[in-house]
Amino acid sequence: MGIKENVRMILSEIPPNVTVVAAAKTRSIEEIVESVEAGIEHIGENYVQEAWKVASALKGLCKLHMIGHLQRNKVRRAVEIFDMIQSVDSLKLAMEIDKRAGAIGKTMPVLIEINSGREPQKSGVMPEQLFTLLDQLSALKNIKIEGLMTMGPVLESPEKLRPYFRLTRRLFEEAMKYSGGNIEMKWLSMGMSDSYLIAIEEGANMVRIGTKIYGPRAYEIHK
Ligand SMILES: *Cc1c(COP(=O)(O)O)cnc(C)c1O
Repeated sequence: MGIKENVRMILSEIPPNVTVVAAAKTRSIEEIVESVEAGIEHIGENYVQEAWKVASALKGLCKLHMIGHLQRNKVRRAVEIFDMIQSVDSLKLAMEIDKRAGAIGKTMPVLIEINSGREPQKSGVMPEQLFTLLDQLSALKNIKIEGLMTMGPVLESPEKLRPYFRLTRRLFEEAMKYSGGNIEMKWLSMGMSDSYLIAIEEGANMVRIGTKIYGPRAYEIHK
């Protein structure tokens, strides 16, 4: 099956309230355009430089999401091109985004990435640190906190991810109590090619799908 068929199949099987972000790392502009023509409205990128090329090729045709780990020295360019940054996991990073967004008169929508597997080497805030971080971020005027994102651990079967999705959903609901000011919990971003249906069952309303849209990646990059 081609990219267009894949997109149509995925869009037809998920509930209408779920937003698909096509995870486009390593894909060519042609492949990305094909997915957009088939109905994809949100593209996710892991690297600012790769995203920059996509942004200039697509020019407003669809929304761009930063889904990879964001280095602080890339924030200035990131706030220029992304419509959402899904991988905020520290006060320092959020403060840099706030500063750079303010400098160009933009309010940057962000998600907080949760390290739902509590894996030391992975990015994301530990679940118990979320609420402290939310308190700290509530003072930043040029970012808008719109939800949570999680990857979950790499496991042999997607069914095993369910507890991690469930934990993140519980945090999302708890975080809704913090709504007001720059916090409006709308998006729960979880689930990838092999796990998005499970993630949706557990409450995701945003899924990030790469392989199942574009096929296997010719090479893997570290995440
Ligand atoms: C690559 C990637 C995905 C999609 O992975 P697939 O298994 O190809 O669907 C989702 N989220 C993030 C953060 C990614 O880097």
